[in-house]
Amino acid sequence: MRISTITNWAYGVTVVLTVLSGGAFILSGYSATRERTAVQEHLELDVLGEELALGAEERTDAARLYVMRGDQRHLDAFHGREDEERRREGAIKGVREIGATAAELAALEEVARDAEALDKIEIAAISAFGTGDQVGARQLLFGPEHDRLQTALLGAVTRFRELTNARTEAVVRDAQSQSDWWSLLAKTLLALTAALFLGVLYFILKRRVAMPLTRMTGIVSRLARQDYDVDVPLDRRRDEIGEMNEAIHIFRENGLERDRLDAERRRDQQTKDLILQMMHRLQACQTQTELAEVVALFAPQIFPALAGHLYIMNESRTTLARIASWLDPQHSEASFPASACWGLRRGRPHVSAREHSDINCQHLDDSDVPGLCVPLTAQGDAIGLLYFEERPEGQLQAETSRLYLELIAENVGLATANLQLRDKLTNLSIRDALTSLYNRRSLDEDMNRHARDRGTELLACMMIDIDHFKRFNDEFGHDAGDEVMRYVAHIISDTIGAAGHAYRFGGEEFTALIPGMDEAQGLELAERVRSNIRSAPLSHRGRILGAVSVSIGLASSRDSGSVASLLTRADTALLEAKARGRNMTVLASALVDGGRRRDSA
Ligand code: GH3
Ligand code: MG
Ligand code: MG
Repeated sequence: MRISTITNWAYGVTVVLTVLSGGAFILSGYSATRERTAVQEHLELDVLGEELALGAEERTDAARLYVMRGDQRHLDAFHGREDEERRREGAIKGVREIGATAAELAALEEVARDAEALDKIEIAAISAFGTGDQVGARQLLFGPEHDRLQTALLGAVTRFRELTNARTEAVVRDAQSQSDWWSLLAKTLLALTAALFLGVLYFILKRRVAMPLTRMTGIVSRLARQDYDVDVPLDRRRDEIGEMNEAIHIFRENGLERDRLDAERRRDQQTKDLILQMMHRLQACQTQTELAEVVALFAPQIFPALAGHLYIMNESRTTLARIASWLDPQHSEASFPASACWGLRRGRPHVSAREHSDINCQHLDDSDVPGLCVPLTAQGDAIGLLYFEERPEGQLQAETSRLYLELIAENVGLATANLQLRDKLTNLSIRDALTSLYNRRSLDEDMNRHARDRGTELLACMMIDIDHFKRFNDEFGHDAGDEVMRYVAHIISDTIGAAGHAYRFGGEEFTALIPGMDEAQGLELAERVRSNIRSAPLSHRGRILGAVSVSIGLASSRDSGSVASLLTRADTALLEAKARGRNMTVLASALVDGGRRRDSA
């Protein structure tokens, strides 16, 4: 039940009790008045009875004294009492008005009758005395009849007084007990009112003041311990406790907001730290594989709600290929043409989301999951793409996240560009620009490395020289000569494949190193190289250049000496092949006394 209902009821009951108590007090007063009136009546009737008895006695005394002494004074006194008659009548009438009972009235009438009879006797005695009959007068006044009447009168007065006594006493008792009862009732009701008032006061103080205060004390101490999970029920009372409750509520809201901001700041700081760590590692990456590993490791830590792919553009800038993925993204293809991505086309982040009514990239499937494509650029060129998609609990739209995503994309882009540039520089330093084969420097390094690390291991070496190459230059020009050089380099590289490495030794001479291969196997491979080169006639800009042939000198580390002399021995074998008429392979081990020597070697 609501407090206001309780207090309303309590007020109502208090008012009713107060009214009842007032009524009881009034009734009690009324009974007391009745009691007073009854006592008054009793006194009046008592006095009346006494006066009746006294009056009769005094008149008799006056008559007797006159008869005895003949003194005129006594006769005057007797006559002076004649108005006793009227008094009696008045008294009886008065008694009737007061409400005397029939018995009382009968007693009074008896008194009146007796008094009248006595009067008659006494008047007769006085008139007898006046005629000189003193003895007769005395006999009348002291005679038995007079005595009897006097005694009867006194008896009637006594009875009257007893009757009125008994009646008034009963009335007084009744009035008194009623007055007492009403008074008791009034006091009881008053006590009940007071008890109710105090009870309600206590209840209200406890429920409205003490209990809310106790509750708020508990809440405040939990809030002081920064326990903002505590529930602060809103109390919309318009009093000090209501205001206190509201203040506590605001305090808690502020605390929660501060906590939320703190957590956000911490999360943000954590994200920044992770991004910084990621940047440091990206800068230290030496290969694209390492870069992919770093991105796949950090991206899900920074954005746990976003799955994604890292794509890198191929050299011809036409196709993107996935090199890393994290958190199992579902909706983007592993490889796709650059034109399939709106982010790459526009050169800025693009959200593919049907529900946002923006166009979807073509490398995404038909799902409704929004995807974000952030192009990776370096010096204005698109070199890759970071793709993110929402996981079920994710949220792609947060603005700060977008900023961080773009920051990451910028850094991954720069790191990728650096790696690519580095690869390019490395290639430039280790490869020959015309044929893309490894250059002489690489050959020297590889030879040294082999000698250092795997000196005892078998290694076959071919020295390959294009026959009459000068002719191509002279007849068809240097471009045609370059074309022949590229053709031969391509065939050598293709034929050797993954078995070894091919180098441009210098001019139109090439070297091939094949680890783990002896002379016999090397010969077989060299013959394949030679016949592959020879097999197709070459043309350049519509002019037939004719067939190209090569001479090959072959040496192997185990069959004919150490790694250190390998190149020299292969070169000697090559010279021998030239000397023997070209377009053939000569084994170094087959040469007698070391064979011919090149002048410059
Ligand atoms: P042989 O069969 O005895 O090897 O005869 P050859 O003509 O192949 O040998 P020679 O050493 O006389 O000629 C090599 C020529 O290759 C000389 C040089 O002008 C030419 N040459 C060297 N490097 C290049 C190059 O990068 N491009 C072109 N087009 N020619 C080159
Ligand atoms: Mg040559
Ligand atoms: Mg040559």
